[in-house]
Amino acid sequence: MSRAFLNDAGHGSDSWPERGMKGVPGLAEHDFNAVVCQETHQLLKGTLPVFEGQPLLKRDVPLINRSKYYNSLYEKYPESIGISTHANASRDETVRGFGVFYWHNHEPSKRLAEIILKNVKRMIPELPIWGSGLWPSLPGDHWSNFHILRETEMTFVLTEWAFMTNAKDLRLLKNDGFRKQCAQVTAASVLEFYGMQSTFKAESIPQPNELPTVTSFSKYPRLIEVTKDTGKYEYANLSNNKGIISKGTRLKVYGETYAAWAGGGGVFIQKKDTQEIPQAIITGGLTKERIDTVEEYFRSKNLSGSVEFVGEGNPYAKAILKGKEYQDFCEFLDAQNWWYKME
Ligand SMILES: [Zn+2]
Repeated sequence: MSRAFLNDAGHGSDSWPERGMKGVPGLAEHDFNAVVCQETHQLLKGTLPVFEGQPLLKRDVPLINRSKYYNSLYEKYPESIGISTHANASRDETVRGFGVFYWHNHEPSKRLAEIILKNVKRMIPELPIWGSGLWPSLPGDHWSNFHILRETEMTFVLTEWAFMTNAKDLRLLKNDGFRKQCAQVTAASVLEFYGMQSTFKAESIPQPNELPTVTSFSKYPRLIEVTKDTGKYEYANLSNNKGIISKGTRLKVYGETYAAWAGGGGVFIQKKDTQEIPQAIITGGLTKERIDTVEEYFRSKNLSGSVEFVGEGNPYAKAILKGKEYQDFCEFLDAQNWWYKME
């Protein structure tokens, strides 16, 4: 087999913070690059020989050594192709999105770049595109004249996944799910370039009998808060990532499986990355008898939530409950046929 994949992680572990380059507070560029390359290696292992001129999560190997190493493989693997994986930086903090560089007059490299850009748009639709997404590397141009594209003999491109200097992009770059998506795009594009079938499915469509059962909360949606940046998924088995939900987001969920919430718009969110938020239920004015009934309800169920009675004469009850307790209390009020509102 004359094909091989040259899996080039940009920079080394000593670039940031040790040498003060290729990173921002909170993210060393090489960490992102290396994790994407690790995942890509896993996806292509067994399908293609994979080589790394920059050992992952290790100290920086000079570019001249890397291009020499890749060129030394060229004789044995004349159809080899390479991708150098990076995260971008700009003085302008508003600039964000994906771009891919290719040597300006190397047609096969341009074709690989086009395949990658197409797959980014298809597989990570929430990732913006930087400019047109396609960036020719020009000789003499001080910022696009990349050594790894200029000095390597084979098809080679350089991906800049997102900007470390933009707050939204930085959040993506630090997210495990996003890193997996970058690897899926990379691996799928390599195989597409060769006209090979993917041995993995980036967007697998599970059979209904593989999916966990969803229990609906019927009329009583629950409030949750996302406690860390997490994925939203198309399927109840948490497959087919449709994007990221940021830490701190509160949303209503309409059903659950053992491990996931069913949110609005048909997406699923992993429960362990969320917490349930207490919700208020307010009844209408209550007679003495009804107050007793509510008090008895709370006493007998030994609830973790609270109830207070507000106002003179016929006070209303304000209950603060979460999760199943919230739904049970609403159902109890419905069964009594009492008016109430959910806050
Ligand atoms: Zn870089």
